[in-house]
Amino acid sequence: MRFSNLLIPTLKEVPNDATLASHIYLLRGGFIQGVGSGLYNFLPLGKIVLDKVRSVVKEELDAVNAQEVSLGFVTPASMWRESGRFEKYGKELLRFKDRKDNDFVLGPTHEEMMVNLVKQTVKSYKQLPLNLYQINLKFRDEIRPRFGLMRGREFLMKDGYSFHVNEEDMRREFALMEETYKRIFTRLGLEFRVVEADSGAIGGSGSKEFMVLANSGEDTIVVCENCEYGANIEAAIRADVVCTDTAPDALFAKFNTPNIKTIDDLSEFFKVNPYYIVKTVVMRALYDEGKSEIVLFVLRGSDILEETKACNAVKANELVEVSQEELSEIGLVAGYMGAVELGVDIKIIADNSLKNATNMICGANVENYHFVGAGSEQMTASYHDISAVLEGDVCSCCGGRLTYTKGIEVGHIFQLGTRYSEPLKAEFLNENGKTQPFVMGTYGIGVSRLLAAIIEQHHDEKGCIWTKESSPFDIHIIVSNSKDENQTNYANSIYDELKYANISVLLDDRKERFGFKMKDCELIGIPNILIVGQKLDDGIVELKRRTEADGVEFKLDALLAEIKNRI
Ligand code: ATP
Ligand code: MG
Repeated sequence: MRFSNLLIPTLKEVPNDATLASHIYLLRGGFIQGVGSGLYNFLPLGKIVLDKVRSVVKEELDAVNAQEVSLGFVTPASMWRESGRFEKYGKELLRFKDRKDNDFVLGPTHEEMMVNLVKQTVKSYKQLPLNLYQINLKFRDEIRPRFGLMRGREFLMKDGYSFHVNEEDMRREFALMEETYKRIFTRLGLEFRVVEADSGAIGGSGSKEFMVLANSGEDTIVVCENCEYGANIEAAIRADVVCTDTAPDALFAKFNTPNIKTIDDLSEFFKVNPYYIVKTVVMRALYDEGKSEIVLFVLRGSDILEETKACNAVKANELVEVSQEELSEIGLVAGYMGAVELGVDIKIIADNSLKNATNMICGANVENYHFVGAGSEQMTASYHDISAVLEGDVCSCCGGRLTYTKGIEVGHIFQLGTRYSEPLKAEFLNENGKTQPFVMGTYGIGVSRLLAAIIEQHHDEKGCIWTKESSPFDIHIIVSNSKDENQTNYANSIYDELKYANISVLLDDRKERFGFKMKDCELIGIPNILIVGQKLDDGIVELKRRTEADGVEFKLDALLAEIKNRI
């Protein structure tokens, strides 16, 4: 393509709200255009990249016999009511009515739709297994759309769903999808990690996320320095924590602790490790049909509450903060809350590490008082893993040291089981002539988010650096002096020659200064650059990689072979 024929509205200035490299460069490079919070248009260059990423995804899925379909974006609310997600999904689900007052939902994911498709078309075990996918728009009314394509409200997702006669076959497909996803992300030139994950609103058991490693990632991943263990912090586990400091040895008693409210203050006051202090976090858990309750989460003072784990422990849709007024209404005193002698009927969820705990210090639910010598015997709690793994904790697989790293979630695969097929009554006749619900898996890739993830991992201070399979073109030709007829003619002829050799080329044929064109070239980030300059008269041109500061000179007769070699 010729630059002069393409709409590439590059920008010099950093757009107002953009802070992340990918957001800035995708806007500045003329790949995308913002239309509203979390809403973007793809301009010609962006569409080319999107299609390239999409075709890598499609090629690899088709190669393992997944079949592409395309489902409606507007989905009847009745299906969502049947699966129970109309309520559960919360405010991310965009609901609306048509002129006949029927309820609809803009698809944020398509389990219900795909189960319905299969329910109507697959009747026998002989038609299984089946893996159907689509690469289509999704809409989620995200609470904080940000970072451009990273967290949009409207975005492109590859969502796949597999149907099986039993768990074993579903697990086989799950493993096949894991391998396929690895091939996709490797082809796209990404450094990533597959980690254990929480299953969230989609439900089911056993899920893995594909995390592109980048400091700007929104997800915290726990990794072991010694073994392969990796998990999203929402699902990470650790070996039991051992505290070598001695426990405060005291008989159970109420102790005056005037104005001593925080874990740090208590630790200082009693000269004890926070491990021996009970931390109490109070939250309101929200359930279906507008129901809610206040829950007391208790854990060791040395630990931090992991909200996703806490939310799962009470099977809530969401946890929200509780105001001071609400606290006082039920007789709780901030700074002095505790799960012992609570006096009100509130659900208490304790962290597993408090099972059989003794010699603890905890709030006495009275202003200016804490209990000493308290233990789990005095609490009526149910126990769950609700604390976050901390850096330096011990790996439960190998005893190694756990650390944090940041990741961008680009894929998520789930072992679903019958979570949707049962409520939606999607059944088939098995080998024995009995009806049975489909056993399912579901597999997502954030196709448009991948553009942002690639740039987060591959950019410099000048702009994008696309990877081989994601780049909008294989090579970018720049004519140094566009007034020089010799240079222009040569650029045109090599442009034709490269195209003939099936190499995709962007020829900057604009009558602009070299420096100006070079700036756009670096911003757009095609990995190979051919500079046709003064030395053309001596039969020499320059080939440069976008990642390198300096190019290498080549004789014209060796050029084509070298370009083919690089591409
Ligand atoms: P996140 O935790 O980032 O919100 P999720 O767990 O809600 O993601 P899934 O429901 O598993 O995401 O969706 C499948 C994939 O779609 C994700 O792995 C991610 O790459 C992509 N994705 C999800 N939400 C968005 C969004 N708002 N914008 C762009 N891509 C998204
Ligand atoms: Mg989400």
